Amino acid sequence: MNTELFRLRDPKRARDFQRLLSRLAPSHPVKIVHVCGTHEITIAQYGLRSLLPENVEVFEGPGCPVCVTSTQDLDCALQIAERGAILCTFGDMTRVPGSRMTLEEARAEGADVRVVLSAADAVEIARRNPEKPVVFFAVGFETTAPGTAAVLLDNPPDNFFVLVSHKLIPPALAALLSQEPREISAFLAPGHVSTVIGAGAYRPLAEEFRVPIVVAGFEPLDILYGLSLILRQLREGRAGVENAYPRAVTEEGNLRAQELFREVFRIGPAIWRGIGEIPDSGFYLREEFRDHDAQKEFGVVGRMGEEKPPGCRCAEVLMAKAIPTDCPLYEKVCTPLTPVGPCMVGAEGACNIWYRYSGRPRL
Ligand code: SF4
Repeated sequence: MNTELFRLRDPKRARDFQRLLSRLAPSHPVKIVHVCGTHEITIAQYGLRSLLPENVEVFEGPGCPVCVTSTQDLDCALQIAERGAILCTFGDMTRVPGSRMTLEEARAEGADVRVVLSAADAVEIARRNPEKPVVFFAVGFETTAPGTAAVLLDNPPDNFFVLVSHKLIPPALAALLSQEPREISAFLAPGHVSTVIGAGAYRPLAEEFRVPIVVAGFEPLDILYGLSLILRQLREGRAGVENAYPRAVTEEGNLRAQELFREVFRIGPAIWRGIGEIPDSGFYLREEFRDHDAQKEFGVVGRMGEEKPPGCRCAEVLMAKAIPTDCPLYEKVCTPLTPVGPCMVGAEGACNIWYRYSGRPRL
């Protein structure tokens, strides 16, 4: 038995945290945003919202990589698949609606779309199919970008290309904080991304926007501990970065992983689905890797503008302005089997998680 895990799920300690949170509860409403599907799964699965003080709310923002991948990038992937390449990507990505269809639908019409678990799997497919171009549609945040960078630095075959749609989390937090009126009181920063970029990566944000940011792990008590640090900062009028996940996250992060993505990518503006363009939030291949750049090889450009299904409130869910049950389509029309918007497709999307775990606020 993993006693460490058991300790981090201990109901008695959870009750202690509940009491601590209620002692720290502010007199005004507080909105805490996390940007991590795994955080939302733990919160929904363990009913953690039911332990929060009445005036403290926790929202999931743009923390699902599949959900925030722009329609333009998805359209480019579709065009590439329709031109005869083997298009490889992560499973959920195949079910997200583009402006015309999903990659799964393109596969049903004859395109060669394959699900892989990593960029290395796509390289392996390229090695086994030297006569065909193989394109890895690379989505995800700072956690998956090093894996893509590593295969490009490892002399991949000439028929291997990457369609890059990797994104950076700190600029997205800045974009949320720049909204007027500002409603966000604090961030619970994602454990996975923070293992790579380090807790220190959030310090400029905390200073500029005077916002508490606490890095948290994924067990129920990790999250309750992180929330207690946030409430304590708010109560004491502080706005700093704290690391509630020191068993995995350091101040400087994983320097080797950062080196990898700096070597392969440059940073530029990126379109986030539902949010729009965020400066300095996207990874782009450096010139040295142009021979593996799928966009250049296939000359594809996505259609500008977002396709928003009528009634879908994914944009507000991703901006932490709405919860899934605010959407009139939730559970009635939109379900994991019949997804209307991207937040119901991705396993890390808020709507999908709420549907699976019935994670309503204050259960
Ligand atoms: S329930 Fe479906 S349509 Fe509504 S916001 Fe969520 S994903 Fe979009």
